[in-house]
Amino acid sequence: MNVAKVMANLEAKHPGEKEFLQAVHEVLESIEEIYNQHPEFENAKIVERMVEPDRIFTFRVAWVDDKGEVQTNLGYRVQFNSAIGPYKGGLRFHKAVNLSMLKFLGFEQTFKNALTTLPMGGGKGGSDFDPVGKSDAEIMRFCQAFMYELWQNIGPDTDVPAGDVGVGGREIGYMYGMYKKLAREYNTGVLTGKGATWGGSILRPEATGFGALYFTQHVLHTAGKDIKGKTVALSGFGNVAWGAATKAVELGAKVVAISGPDGVCEIANGITKEMIDYMLVMRASNQNRVEMMAEKFPGQAKFTAGKKAWSVKCDIALPCAFQNELNGDDAKELIANGTWCCCEVSNMGCTPEAIHTFQSNGILFAPGKAVNAGGVATSGLEMTQNAAHLGWSGEEVDAKLHFIMTSIHEACVKYGKQADGHIDYVKGANIAGFMKVATAMLEQGI
Ligand code: GLU
Repeated sequence: MNVAKVMANLEAKHPGEKEFLQAVHEVLESIEEIYNQHPEFENAKIVERMVEPDRIFTFRVAWVDDKGEVQTNLGYRVQFNSAIGPYKGGLRFHKAVNLSMLKFLGFEQTFKNALTTLPMGGGKGGSDFDPVGKSDAEIMRFCQAFMYELWQNIGPDTDVPAGDVGVGGREIGYMYGMYKKLAREYNTGVLTGKGATWGGSILRPEATGFGALYFTQHVLHTAGKDIKGKTVALSGFGNVAWGAATKAVELGAKVVAISGPDGVCEIANGITKEMIDYMLVMRASNQNRVEMMAEKFPGQAKFTAGKKAWSVKCDIALPCAFQNELNGDDAKELIANGTWCCCEVSNMGCTPEAIHTFQSNGILFAPGKAVNAGGVATSGLEMTQNAAHLGWSGEEVDAKLHFIMTSIHEACVKYGKQADGHIDYVKGANIAGFMKVATAMLEQGI
C-alpha cells in the first residue's frame, strides 16, 4: 500500500469530505508498515474495501415545531463495516452534521469497536437537526419522525444505534417508543443507552467518561505517574464530560476548567459534586452555554467568553466535546502552561497538528478511539444483557468496563511500543483495531 496513492484515489471519489479523509489518513499512516508485511491484505484489497462504507441510508425527516410550522431535516445512517458484528454506533444530532462527519465517525467506530474485545461492527448516524433552543415536545416529535424513517434498517442483530452528541437517554427513549409502535415487538436490543428500568444498562450514561479515566490512569501508571492531586481541564458538559469529571474527582484529581461553545469556566478550587450535578441540568436545558455554571455558582466558577479550556493551566487536558476542538495553537498553549498529558475523550478531538505537537514534545497522548471506547463497550454489555433478558448490577458492569479498558490499554502497548520504549498510543490503537477487522474481512472472502 502506498498511503499517498490510496488517499489521492479516495479524495478524487469523495472530494470535500474533510473529516473523513483526515480520519482515514491517520489510520493508514499508522498501519502502513504492518500492512506491507502482509501481502494477503494487499491481494484482497483490504484497505480499498475498508475505506468505503457497506451502505449509507439518507432520508428526509419532516416534523412540526411548536408554532405549527413544518420543518425539514436530513437524516442518515452509515453502516460502515460488519466484519466482526452487527453495525454499532451512535446517532449525532447537531446543526453541523453532514455525510463527511458521519463517515469519519463510522470509520473510527469500526476500529474502536474492534478494540473493545466485543463482537460489534461499526456504524454511525444522525441528523442536521439542531437541538439548541428546542422544547422537550419538539425534541420528542423530531425523534419520533427520525425513527419513523429509520426503523426498518436497524435491529438487534443488524444495526444498533445509541447516543452521541445531542442524543442522550431522553432522545433514545423517544426513539424507542416510536420503534416499538412500528415494529410491534419489544426488541430492547435495537438501541442502547436506554432507561435503566426498561432494558438500559446500569452505568451506561457514565461509561464513556468513567472508561476514559480508567484508560488515563493506565497511561499515567505506565509512565510512572499518578492522577491523585493533578489538575484537569475539560471541554463540554454532556454525558461524556459529566462522567469524566465525576470519575476524575473520585480518583483524586482536581477539575479546574470546563468549557462550552460560549467560553470557559475556571474553577480554581476544583469542581464540586453540586457543580457536576448541575452539568446535567445545563445539558437538559438545551441552551449549550457553559456560562450557566458561573451564573449558578458565582465566586466559584469564573466565566471568560470566547476562551477554550486549553487556555487554563492544567496537568491533564481532556477534550470531551467535538472533533478538531483542540488545534495546534491550543496544544502549544497547553504545553507552554505546563500540561504533560492529553487523553482525547471526544472522537478525533485533536487536529493532526495538535497530535504532532504533543508527540514531538514528549507529551503523553492517547487517541479517542481507545480512550472513549468504554461508552460503546458498555453499549455492548447492554446488548448482552438484553439478549439474555437479565440485568447486571452496577458493580458487575463497572468491573467488566474496567477489564475492557485494561485490555484496550494492553493492546495499545502491544502494537504501539517503540524501539526506545515509549508507547505510541495512536499507532497502537490503530494497528490493534485494524488487525482484528482486516483478519475478519480476509477470512470472510470477497
Ligand atoms: N457515540 C458513542 C461513541 O462514539 C457511543 C456509541 C454506542 O454506544 O453505540 O462511541
